[in-house]
Amino acid sequence: MFEDLRGKTAVVTGSSKGLGAAIARRFGAEGMNVVTNYRSDEEGARETVRAIEEAGGAAAAVQSDVSKAECVDALYDAAMFSFGGVDIWVNNAGIERATPSDQKSIEEWQRVIDVNLTGVFAGSRRAIQHFLEHKMPGVVINLSSVHEVIPWPHFADYAASKAGIGMLTKTLALEYADRGIRVNAIAPGAMDTPINAQKFADPDERAAVERLIPMGYVGAPDDIAAAAAWLASEQARYVTGTTLVVDGGMTLYPSFQGGQG
Ligand code: NAD
Repeated sequence: MFEDLRGKTAVVTGSSKGLGAAIARRFGAEGMNVVTNYRSDEEGARETVRAIEEAGGAAAAVQSDVSKAECVDALYDAAMFSFGGVDIWVNNAGIERATPSDQKSIEEWQRVIDVNLTGVFAGSRRAIQHFLEHKMPGVVINLSSVHEVIPWPHFADYAASKAGIGMLTKTLALEYADRGIRVNAIAPGAMDTPINAQKFADPDERAAVERLIPMGYVGAPDDIAAAAAWLASEQARYVTGTTLVVDGGMTLYPSFQGGQG
C-alpha cells in the first residue's frame, strides 16, 4: 500500500471491467476517490463503484465516450463536482479490431485511433490543464501495450495507436517535467480480461498465447493495478516518460528462450 495516495482523487477511463476496473478497485483500497467511467456497461461501472466503496474509497460513475473531447471534459467535471479536484488521471479505455490491413476500412482504423490515441491525448490534456492551473504536481498514466513495440498483423491500427502512446507519453513527460507533472505508460502483455475472453475460452488459443510468454502464464488484472498504484505514488516520484512493461517477459524475444540464435 502507498500511504501518500490516501484521500487523493483519480479519474480512470474505461473502468467498468478489465484492467480499468482492477486499477479503480486498487485505488479504492488505497483510500482514494475514484471517478470511474464506462461507455455502455452501466452495470459493470456500478459494480466497480461498489467494490471501491467496500474497499474504503469513494467513487462516482460517469458515462462518457473518451474519443470525444467534450465527453472527456465531463469526466473532469465529475471529479471537480464530486471530489473538488484531480491528482491522477489514468487513460485506460481502449479497443481492438482484428482485420487484415488490406481489408480494414478507414472508419475502423479511425475509430481505433480516436479511442486509443486521441482519447489518451484528450484525457492527458485535461489533467495537465488542471495541474497547471492549480500549480500542483500531478500524475498521468497511459495504458499502452506490448504492441507499442511488437508488430501485430491484423491489428495495424491498434499497434500504431500504442506506439503513438509511447511517444505521446515521452513528449508530455518532457514538456511538463519542470512543473512536477509525471507522465508514464504501462505496457501489459496478455492479461485475463474481457477483451481476451473469447480467445482464452479456447484452450488451444490460450496455450498458443502462453507459449509467447517466457514466464508461461497469462497475467492477472491486479498485476497491472499494482503497477498503476506504484506509478501514481510518491515512491515513483523520480519516474517520468517511461513505459513500464508488465508482460511476463513477452517482449524479450521468447523464441530465443532456449539459447537459439
Ligand atoms: P476491456 O475490453 O476488458 O475493457 C475496456 C474498457 O474500456 C471497458 O470498460 C470499456 O467500456 C471501455 N471503453 C471502450 N471504449 C471506450 C470509449 N470509447 N470510451 C470510454 N470507455 C471505453 O479491455 P482491457 O483488457 O481491460 O484493456 C484495458 C486497456 O489495456 C486497453 O487500453 C488495452 O488496449 C490495454 N491492454 C490490454 C491488454 C490485455 O491483454 N487485456 C494487453 C495490452 C494492453
